[in-house]
Amino acid sequence: MNIKKLITFWLLMSLMVPLWADDPNIWPLVVANPMENITSGFGYREDGFGGHTGFHPAIDIAAPEGTLVVSTITGIVVDHFPPPDGYWEGHPVFGGCILIVGEDGWATFYGHLSRSYVHEGERITKGQMIGRVGATGMSTGNHLHYAIMIDPQTYLGREFDNIHERSATWKF
Ligand SMILES: [Zn+2]
Repeated sequence: MNIKKLITFWLLMSLMVPLWADDPNIWPLVVANPMENITSGFGYREDGFGGHTGFHPAIDIAAPEGTLVVSTITGIVVDHFPPPDGYWEGHPVFGGCILIVGEDGWATFYGHLSRSYVHEGERITKGQMIGRVGATGMSTGNHLHYAIMIDPQTYLGREFDNIHERSATWKF
């Protein structure tokens, strides 16, 4: 194998490996410079808007309406509020939103969606398209509210196998 082939192989592998890992190590949306478009970070904020005062346990990523949103973990759709479509209002704060729970204690949450391509109970693969960016719920502009949650037991050395059962009782 010559050096050029080796470098190509290494580049391909470095692109693929994040998709194989269990943790949510990929961006949840397809935009050119997501890092530069984080409009609200993780932590405390004083410029409260629409009940968002206080601790913000997520990041907000600004993106044009309709930008593709992908799941950052493989898991089950546990909570699903379809975006408003005339008869269903979505979540009062997060509008169209999706909660996906993985098999190893990870959960990820996607809010303010304009469209959804999933339903409750559906199994989602990491990197799979789940919806599109919007401004539904309490939002001043098009952005994705993205949160990662982790079961504390992951860090407490206890085994568990009923994550789906327990997470089904989580509410926002
Ligand atoms: Zn947010």
